[in-house]
Amino acid sequence: MKSFFPPPPAAEDAPLPYLGPPAFVQWLKVNRRAHQRPGLASVVVSLKPIGGTPGDATTAQMVGLADLVDRYGFGELRVSPEQNLILPHIRNGDLLALWEGLSDLGLATANHNLATDIVACPGLDYCNLANARAIPLAQALSLAIESAGLSDVAGTLRIKLSGCINACGHHHIADLGILGVDKRGEEFYQITLGGRAGEEAAVGEISGPSLSADAVPPAVVRVLRAYLALRKPGEPFAHALQRLSHDPFKEALYDRAAA
Ligand code: SF4
Repeated sequence: MKSFFPPPPAAEDAPLPYLGPPAFVQWLKVNRRAHQRPGLASVVVSLKPIGGTPGDATTAQMVGLADLVDRYGFGELRVSPEQNLILPHIRNGDLLALWEGLSDLGLATANHNLATDIVACPGLDYCNLANARAIPLAQALSLAIESAGLSDVAGTLRIKLSGCINACGHHHIADLGILGVDKRGEEFYQITLGGRAGEEAAVGEISGPSLSADAVPPAVVRVLRAYLALRKPGEPFAHALQRLSHDPFKEALYDRAAA
């Protein structure tokens, strides 16, 4: 495997540029990942603009990005299973210039692994196997979460959508998974909570009756609000679910307090 991924050339051990425009500092905080080599950073280019189609990029954006990668990233770019792009080797001293270039291309959304970094399969818009649309719901969710001011404050929280049980959107291993189902010829969505990838992998648990497309964004916003109200400082969503059980989040999902 190592022969496919030769290490990048050594870089000068420059410090991280924590000063700059506030939007740059926020992007650095959210989209930069540590690198094993001093002086380098790994950067996630989010393809999840608020209200956009998850994972989409235009030809002009990809051509512009290729130029940036040649200039600042040793010509290396990878595609992530989260429908984002990764620039694995960026010199610390080039991060500001890279961010400026990404901003010009509309590719500097600072939401890697946040609630608006939503993964969605093509769903009924493009896939013959689908029960329900996924892309328009992902767009509506992204807008609802952002306008509720919850994307940043909720921290790392993975939301994933699949248009059918084939699960190409990996909804079953998301903190909050959404599965398109067919209910007497109509598009509905089943919500799962508590899915996890990685070493503590778990399949999410179905929360209850499926919801219509219109009902999903406000229901998800209520779950995020419940999480913010109930979590301990810094507690990830998955740990809050384990500590409190799924019950308070199901209550929020179905708005039982208001019923
Ligand atoms: S999960 Fe289903 S609808 Fe989505 S891409 Fe896969 S087969 Fe198609």
